[in-house]
Amino acid sequence: MVTTFLKSGIKITPQRVAVFEALESLCHASADEVISKVQEKAPYISPATIYNTLDKFVQMGVISRVATDGNKMFFDITPTPHVHLCADDNSFIADAHIPELEQLIADYLPRVQIPGFHLSKIQVNLVGRFEGNTQEK
Ligand SMILES: [Zn+2]
Repeated sequence: MVTTFLKSGIKITPQRVAVFEALESLCHASADEVISKVQEKAPYISPATIYNTLDKFVQMGVISRVATDGNKMFFDITPTPHVHLCADDNSFIADAHIPELEQLIADYLPRVQIPGFHLSKIQVNLVGRFEGNTQEK
């Protein structure tokens, strides 16, 4: 974590460490879930500080933001592009680990010219229904 902060130029503060560690333990989480997790250990950190810290982390490329079909926003401890599996009721999101698909997208899309459009980010969400364990996010 310290290395991540140093690489991104983010100053290390106790609040930022608490927010990062909370999201690290959750992997993918809504802002409210991060707030609950942070406040379990540090109730003095305000929701506004946690929201601002999450936004700062996204701006600095330390974490990423994932929008699902139902407009639910998740924060993701993994900042690099990767494929997500999203529950069709928007309750759950997980990393898919399909390197072939990620490589296919990374190889193909930069070669495609779409007039008037400049690709800045690739986000692939596969939406469906999970069976079995849905505790991992
Ligand atoms: Zn992810």
